[in-house]
Amino acid sequence: RRISSKEVMEKEAKYAAHNYHPLPVVLAKGQGVFVWDVEGKRYYDFLSGYSTNNFGHCHPKLVKALTEQAHQLHHVSRAFYSNVFAEYAEKITKLFGYDRMVPMNTGVEACETSCKISRKWGYKKKKIPKDSAKIIFATDNFWGRSLAAVSASTDPLAFEDYGPFMPGFSCVPYNDLHALEKALIDPLVCAFMVEPIQGEAGIKVPSEGYLKGVRELCTKHNVLWIADEVQTGLGRTGKRLTCDYENVKPDILVLAKALGGGLYPVSAALANDDIMLVLEPGTHGSTFGGNPLASKIAMTALDVLEEENIINNSFNMGQKFRKGLEDLKSNQAVVDVRGKGLLNAIEFNSNILNAWDVLIELKKRGIVAKHTHDDIVRLSPPLIINEEQIEDTVDIIKKTINDM
Ligand code: PLP
Repeated sequence: RRISSKEVMEKEAKYAAHNYHPLPVVLAKGQGVFVWDVEGKRYYDFLSGYSTNNFGHCHPKLVKALTEQAHQLHHVSRAFYSNVFAEYAEKITKLFGYDRMVPMNTGVEACETSCKISRKWGYKKKKIPKDSAKIIFATDNFWGRSLAAVSASTDPLAFEDYGPFMPGFSCVPYNDLHALEKALIDPLVCAFMVEPIQGEAGIKVPSEGYLKGVRELCTKHNVLWIADEVQTGLGRTGKRLTCDYENVKPDILVLAKALGGGLYPVSAALANDDIMLVLEPGTHGSTFGGNPLASKIAMTALDVLEEENIINNSFNMGQKFRKGLEDLKSNQAVVDVRGKGLLNAIEFNSNILNAWDVLIELKKRGIVAKHTHDDIVRLSPPLIINEEQIEDTVDIIKKTINDM
């Protein structure tokens, strides 16, 4: 007997912690840009596992890499060398133009790793007095759920009741270079961490020149710039990195999500020798980081990214998508349609239309997506989506909203 959606949802509600409020859809299969529920209904996947399935569901090269490597050698830890990790480390550092990388598993781990490296760099290189280094973040940042990450958060939903919080963390307003410079003047500051487009905050695109300004200010004040490209990197916004839009290079680059192609959690922080070599044996690590399976999948994901016109397609389909949705701006329920590449959002006037109601209606019409906050629907399909599918989904989204 096939289990029904209702049964699955009841079971999860009974046995799992209630830390998520999922859309009422139970998925059983994925292929390309589509997913199917247990009853066999097909949907366009417009979340892509929070920008993880950039290459679509069940990409044959990724599935092959996963299964072949799993049969060969899946995990040894970095207590030993494996015949895959070094090759992966070379590939990713050469592609992004850094001397070295440190392998982790999730986004939050790679971001926290970057904070640790920055503090250590602060003491060893910038000569900040012991235990007094400060890290600056941007308001409305999101970099995960660890105690350090929620210590940097300005969203009460993320941090409330989880104190006491990490000392030495503070925030300046996002997209405000003047406020940033005031903060960076403090000689105790070792790093500024920022998303080039804020994802969970609601696809907040900063003004042109912001990233260039961040680069200049961090250089001027001898502060490391950590770019959290966990959600925006690897083609999602129509360039290899979102930083590429302004031709700027962060001191520490953080990648995750799509680096594992949606098949496996893989993350990394990349930096040059003068920064990365502050890490010495025994001072940082991860049981699973850099394991052969992760390394093989990440190498394959990078191959797919570079060889299958993914980045250009994301750029072009993103333009077509936003152009298609442009006239929604005249709908009084819609405040904004924005994004870059295939990281997009529609912001609603929540007095008129609730994001959740839009999601339920979209689901009925064959698109699954998720909101950030009560008034923003994120639209981030796999980057392999084609023109016809963009036209189809633009049509569905427009009709759905205009009918509500
Ligand atoms: N950084 C950014 C920009 C993110 O969007 C996320 C997750 O959404 C993270 C970090 C945390 O990644 P993870 O959930 O893999 O820990």
